[in-house]
Amino acid sequence: PEPLAAMHKALVEVKAQLGRHYPLIIGGEKVDTARKVVSTNPSDPAQVVGTTAMASAAEADAALEAAWRAFAGWKKWPQEDRSRLLMKAAHVMKRRQRELEAWLVWEIGKNYVEAAAEVAEAIDFLRYYAVQSLKYAAGAPVTHFPGEDNEAFYIPLGAGVVIAPWNFPLAILCGMIMGPVAVGNTVVAKPAEDTVVIAAKLFEVFEEAGVPAGVVNFLPGEGSEVGAHLVAHPKTRFVNFTGSLEVGLRINETAAKLAPGQLWLKRVFLELGGKDGLIVDETADLEAAALGTVQSAFGFQGQKCSAASRLIVVDKVADLVVERVVERARQLSVGPAEENPDMGPVASAQQENTVRKYLDIGQGEGKLVLGGHRLEGSGYFFEPTVFDHVAPDARIAQEEIFGPVLSVIRVPDFDAALEVANGTRFGLTGGLYSRSRERLERARREFHVGNLYFNRKITGALVGVQPFGGFNLSGTDTKAGGPDYLLNFLQMKSVTERY
Ligand code: NAD
Repeated sequence: PEPLAAMHKALVEVKAQLGRHYPLIIGGEKVDTARKVVSTNPSDPAQVVGTTAMASAAEADAALEAAWRAFAGWKKWPQEDRSRLLMKAAHVMKRRQRELEAWLVWEIGKNYVEAAAEVAEAIDFLRYYAVQSLKYAAGAPVTHFPGEDNEAFYIPLGAGVVIAPWNFPLAILCGMIMGPVAVGNTVVAKPAEDTVVIAAKLFEVFEEAGVPAGVVNFLPGEGSEVGAHLVAHPKTRFVNFTGSLEVGLRINETAAKLAPGQLWLKRVFLELGGKDGLIVDETADLEAAALGTVQSAFGFQGQKCSAASRLIVVDKVADLVVERVVERARQLSVGPAEENPDMGPVASAQQENTVRKYLDIGQGEGKLVLGGHRLEGSGYFFEPTVFDHVAPDARIAQEEIFGPVLSVIRVPDFDAALEVANGTRFGLTGGLYSRSRERLERARREFHVGNLYFNRKITGALVGVQPFGGFNLSGTDTKAGGPDYLLNFLQMKSVTERY
C-alpha cells in the first residue's frame, strides 16, 4: 500500500507538469530551436506530455564539438572520481524514483510494475558501471620480457553518439550513455522522438548529480535527420545504437564510410530486434509455462525486444498449453496506464499501425483464438491476441511485431521444436519449459540465442546477472549490464621501455 500511495501522489504531481518545454543541452548550455518535438500520452493522444527543442545538423555539429572539448578534461579524471559521480547519479535517481516512474506511465504507457522495474534497472546500470569501470583503471597484466619494462593500459575512445529506442526510454538510454562515460568517454545522446520528456528528466538527474558540462549532451530530434547526421559525422568516434534491425543496418553502412577529415574507424554497437521463441515440451509444468508465456508475451504490451512472441509447443500438450495461455491472457485488463492495468496502450500511432497490419496478416496465417482487435476510443489499446496453428515460416512467426500478438507453432517433438526455435534471423532471447535434464542440457548448447531462460519467463535481464545482447541479426552482442561491456568503449595501449 505504501509504494502505491506514493505512486498515486507522484502521478498527480507529474500530471500538473505535463505540457512543459525542455531545451537541448550542448556543452552545459540550454539551447532552444524554432522547431519542436512533441510527445503525447498514448493512453490519451490529445494530451501533450511535453515538448523539447528539435536539433538539426548545426546543433549536432556543436554538440560533437562540445563533447570533444569536455573529453580533454573528463578523460583525465581519476577513475574513482568518475565512479563516485555515477554513484551520485544513482542516488539522485533513487530519490526521484517515484516521479520518474510516473513520467514513464504518462509518456509511454507503462503500468506501475513495468515503470518501477525500469527505474530500478536504470539505477542498477549506474551502480554496476560505477563498480565495473574500476577494474580497468589498473590496466592489464602482461608477460615479463627480459631487458624491458612492458605495460598495457586502457584509454577511452573519445566522443561518441548514443541513439536510443522508446521502449526503455530511461534505463536503456541511461545505460548506453553512462557505460561509455564511466570509463572516460563523452557522449551526444539522441533519444527516441516518442520519449523525449523522460530523456529530459534523465538529463536533469545528470545535472543534479554534477556531471560536468559537455560530458553528456542532450540532442532530441528526428532519427532520419539529426540521427543520420551524427552517425555520418567525421567527429563521431563510436555509435552506440539500440533499435530496429532496419535502422541498425543503415547505421552500420553509414558508419563504415570514411567521411572527409575522419581520422579513425568508427566503432559501432548495435542492439536490435528479436523474434523470441519459447519452447514447451510434454514434460513441462504446464501451469508455470502458461503463466510465463503470458507474462512475457503481454508485459508492456509485448513491446520488448526480449518478449516471447513465438510459443513453440510439442503436439502432445499443445491443446492443454494453448487453453491455459488463452484462459490467462483473457483475464488481462487493458486500459489507461495511470489506472495500473495489466496492459496499457501501445506506444504511438506508428506502433498502432504496425500492430493493426499484423493482426490483418495473422488472420490469413493462423487461427485466431484470442483477441485480434483494437479497443474503441482514442488511446492505442489492443486486446491480447493469440494466433494458433501458425507455420514456422509465416510472417507473424518471422517478423518482429513488437505488440501484444503471440504466434503458437505446434511441433511433433523436441527436435523439431529446437529447429523451429533457431529458425529465424534473430537470436536475442529464448526459453524452454521442461523437466527433462537431457533436453535442458541440449538447449543450453544448441538453442542459439544470447539470453536463454529455463522454466521461467523470458524477459528483461537483470543488470550484472544476465548480461544482455543477442546473436545473429539481433545485434553485435555487446552484452549490456555484463562484466565486459565497458571494454567496448576502451582501447588498449602498450608501452615498452628498454632497460
Ligand atoms: P527504431 O530503429 O525505429 O529507432 C531507434 C532510434 O533510431 C530512434 O532514436 C530513432 O530516432 C533513430 N533513427 C531512426 N532512423 C535513423 C537513422 N536513419 N539514422 C540514425 N538514427 C535513426 O527503433 P524503435 O522503434 O525506437 O525501437 C524498437 C526496436 O528496438 C525494436 O526492434 C526492438 O527489438 C529494438 N530493441 C532492441 C533492444 C536490444 O537490447 N536488443 C532493446 C530495446 C529495443
